[in-house]
Amino acid sequence: MKPQQGLLPGNAKCPFCGNKADGYTSTTGKEAPVTGDITVCLYCNEVGIYEVAEDKTVQVRKPTLDELKDIFSKHPDLAVQVMKVKGVTKIVMTEHQKKYN
Ligand SMILES: [Zn+2]
Repeated sequence: MKPQQGLLPGNAKCPFCGNKADGYTSTTGKEAPVTGDITVCLYCNEVGIYEVAEDKTVQVRKPTLDELKDIFSKHPDLAVQVMKVKGVTKIVMTEHQKKYN
């Protein structure tokens, strides 16, 4: 299964850090996210939920606590992966800042 990547219509922002969330990489082979799909912000690594409007524009919202419990109970590996991504991203961003600032 090949990961799908692309840009999303609209001007989605991460509801946690406010950075742009207009690109995606699907790990399920879907061509584009649908409402309810999970996303992980590459800037702050928080878990968000996609909301796709009728005009196909995409927003990302914070999950509720019940949704988070549901997500992590259905996908126990996701919690581990999120923690790994947080660690890797911290290293990458630290190196990036050292190199370019
Ligand atoms: Zn974020």
